Amino acid sequence: MPAPLIYLDNNATTPCDPRALEVMLPYFFEMPGNAASRNHPFGWMAEEAVKQAREQVALLIGAETRELVFTSGATESDNLAIKGVFELYRRKGSHIITLKTEHKAVLDTCRHIEKMGGEVTYLDVDENGLVNLGALEAAIRPDTILVSVMWANNETGVIQPIAEIGAICDKFGVLFMSDATQATGKIPVNPREAGVHLMAFSAHKLYGPKGIGALYISRRAPRVKVAPIIDGGGHEQGMRSGTLNVPAIVGFGKAAELAAQEMPQESRRLRGLRDKLESTLLGRVEEAHLNGSRENRLPHVSNIAFRYAEAESVLMTFNQRIALSSGSACTSASIEPSHVLTAMGRSADWAHSALRFSLGRFNTEEEVEQVITAVAEGVEKVRGMSPVWELFKEGNLDG
Ligand SMILES: *Cc1c(COP(=O)(O)O)cnc(C)c1O
Repeated sequence: MPAPLIYLDNNATTPCDPRALEVMLPYFFEMPGNAASRNHPFGWMAEEAVKQAREQVALLIGAETRELVFTSGATESDNLAIKGVFELYRRKGSHIITLKTEHKAVLDTCRHIEKMGGEVTYLDVDENGLVNLGALEAAIRPDTILVSVMWANNETGVIQPIAEIGAICDKFGVLFMSDATQATGKIPVNPREAGVHLMAFSAHKLYGPKGIGALYISRRAPRVKVAPIIDGGGHEQGMRSGTLNVPAIVGFGKAAELAAQEMPQESRRLRGLRDKLESTLLGRVEEAHLNGSRENRLPHVSNIAFRYAEAESVLMTFNQRIALSSGSACTSASIEPSHVLTAMGRSADWAHSALRFSLGRFNTEEEVEQVITAVAEGVEKVRGMSPVWELFKEGNLDG
C-alpha cells in the first residue's frame, strides 16, 4: 500500500470536518425543502436549520444574525462588499484604499472599480508585511468611502493591526471592510469590537464545505448597506438573491460552532507543530529565511524562502506524497512571483524560492516530521544541481 498523502496546504482549503459533513447529509434527501417555502413542513424545517446555522456563525464572530448575508464564498463576499459599497455610496465619493498584499478577490474587484470610474490607492507594506498606519491615515481623502484591509494574509499568515485601522476609519467617518477569510475560526475575530463594518469569510477555510461563505454587514452604529450584485427574489434582506444552499449553510454553522469550541486548544497545538517545523528547517537548512512578521502571525502558518532553490523544483521532489504550496494557491498556476512577497520588498528570485506551510486540524506530529525531512532533502537536492548555488557557495554572488 502506498504511504498516505500528507496535506499541508490548509490555507488553500481545509478538509470538511466529518462532524460538519454529518449534520449536512439529511438536508440533501430527507429534508429537501427550500428555506423560502412558507406553506409546508419541508420549508419550515429548512428555514429552522438556516436560522440555527446563522446563530452558530454569528456567535463565532460576535455578530447579530441579521448582520450576516450568506454568499457562495469569500470571493463573492469581497465582491459584494466593495462593489456594493461603491454603488451605494458613490454620491459621497469614489475613492477606495487597500493593500498591495490583498487576496486577488479584493485586488481584482478593485481593478473593476477603477474601470467603473472609481479611484483606488494600493498601499505598500513594510518588509514584515504590515501596513503603515501613518501612510494609511495620510491616504484618506474627503472622497474616500472605503478602506479594505485583510485580517490575516493567506500566503504569510501576517495579521494586520485591525483595531487600530478601525479607529482611524472611525475618526474620518470612512467605512472599513476586512477580508477575514484566513483569520476567522483560527484566532478570535470580532468585527464590532475592531471597528470593522463589512467582513468577508468562507466555510471551506474553517473545516466547513466549499461554496458557502458570508458577508458581515454592520446593521447598527453604523447601519451599513450594500447594493446587491445578484438580483432576483430578494433573499438575504435583498442583498443576495438566490435559493439558500441549506446543506452547506448547515455545515458552515456546525464548522463555526466547532471552531469556537476548539480554537484555544487547536491553535496551541498547531502553533507547537508549526514552531517545530519552522525552527528545525531554519536551523538545519542554510539560507532559509522566514517571510513575514514573526510575532503578528497566524499560529498555523509559516512561509520560508530557501534561497537559490526554486520552490517549484523543490516541490517536485516530493509532491507525489506531500501537498504544499509555493506562494498562494491562486497564483501558483502562473509564473509570476508572489505579489505578496514582492510587495514586502523581496526580489523575484527570493519570492520564487518560497514555500508556504499551512497546518490544520488533521495534521499530526509524525506528518510534520516527514515534511521537515522531505523539504530539507529536497532543497539540498535542488541546490546540488544549481550553478547559482555553487556560485553563492564560492562567494561569487552577492545577495
Ligand atoms: C481563500 C480566500 C479567498 C477566497 O475564498 P473562496 O471562499 O474560495 O471564494 C478570499 N480571501 C482570502 C484571504 C482567502 O484566503
